[in-house]
Amino acid sequence: MIDNVGGGDNHRSCAPDVILGPSEEYTDLWGEKTSIIVQGESIYLFNFSAAQSQHLENALSILPPEYFEAVPRVYRVGDPSGVKTAMIPPTNRRVMGGSHICRGRHRIDPDMLRLFEFISFHPGVFDEITRYTTIFHELGHFIDSKFGVTRSLGDEERALARTYANKVYRNIPAMTVNEKEAIACGFSYFFARAYTFRREGTWRGSRVTPGRDDRYYPEWLHSVINTHFENNTSG
Ligand SMILES: [Zn+2]
Repeated sequence: MIDNVGGGDNHRSCAPDVILGPSEEYTDLWGEKTSIIVQGESIYLFNFSAAQSQHLENALSILPPEYFEAVPRVYRVGDPSGVKTAMIPPTNRRVMGGSHICRGRHRIDPDMLRLFEFISFHPGVFDEITRYTTIFHELGHFIDSKFGVTRSLGDEERALARTYANKVYRNIPAMTVNEKEAIACGFSYFFARAYTFRREGTWRGSRVTPGRDDRYYPEWLHSVINTHFENNTSG
């Protein structure tokens, strides 16, 4: 997935944060706020249409609780403030999504961290058949950050991940491409393929063995992700 320049490493300082300020401030910056309840928790959405909201809810709903706890509670579509022009139509979509990960996140209270950090999407993402691979890719960066999947790769897997990332992202010279992109792609394909979605984007509701062993989801990558899933979640 083409995501934020910086490859999910868009680190920023976390406080004071916009979501904790007066509502008119973040509404101006981020657009209208709505919320949904997923797995018993409030998820805050900015500038989401009803259809976009449903797609995100579908994706969040199928994460096992251990992974759900790793992902943010704040999501944005586009950039009403006009700061990030690559997030505003009709720019050709250099940026599909961004994982905004806090600097020094391990020193921040985990519940607060989930309000400080957020994921943003270009609105065009939701109109595409690949919408779920983009959504799960960004969620995958947060799962990786919490569990240190990339960090714990062995030498051989790390080399495979680097080669994979450079192949998949070869046309994006501005981006810092590294092993983390491969792992985010792994989570993306693991979920987007295991849970089949109908063409219009509704979830069929059954889990299947993810299709694998192709250029985008090679066997070694499936093995890394599937092993992590089996060892760290209740499935
Ligand atoms: Zn990424």
